[in-house]
Amino acid sequence: MTSRLSRLAVALVATAGATLGVTVANPAPASAAMTICYNTSQAGSYAGTANQAASIWNNATVNLTLSANCGSNLRIYQITGGGSYAVRTSLGNGRVYIDTQQAAQYSPLRIMTHEIGHILGLPDNYNGNCSLLMSGGSAGTSCTNPYPSTTEANRVSSLFAGTFSATDRSADIFRDSWPSVLTPVS
Ligand SMILES: [Zn+2]
Repeated sequence: MTSRLSRLAVALVATAGATLGVTVANPAPASAAMTICYNTSQAGSYAGTANQAASIWNNATVNLTLSANCGSNLRIYQITGGGSYAVRTSLGNGRVYIDTQQAAQYSPLRIMTHEIGHILGLPDNYNGNCSLLMSGGSAGTSCTNPYPSTTEANRVSSLFAGTFSATDRSADIFRDSWPSVLTPVS
């Protein structure tokens, strides 16, 4: 009796599988979400900050997932002096450098999420608006907002859905990525 039931179960599963095989002929594009493995082995005291920044981006976007230490699409480095910056080798791949001197003045989490934003395809926008993540240091040392705006987050989701041109997805170096506050002329 048991074996008859087992054979019946196998037959039902096989039938269901065959039916599914027909219905998933055109899988949804969302199934191609990219996993970005970030490596914090050289992030020094900013490894935890990188994890926080990854959570912020994961919560704000779709089509990509930042995951810790499963590979090295993105390497994060702690440096001293020279300014924080990002090197994007392609969309979702590259290196982020966090300058300890800048991180002592500005919010380290805002710097981290900003620089990762470059890896995710965003350019700088130095308009001084603290509600934007990509305004970076232009918003001043008092701005600690680490969250991308809806517009910024949606652009990243769209980039990873493949709806922008190759130029938008290309490699780039964001050297002077975190400018200091402009000194008022007295
Ligand atoms: Zn920047």
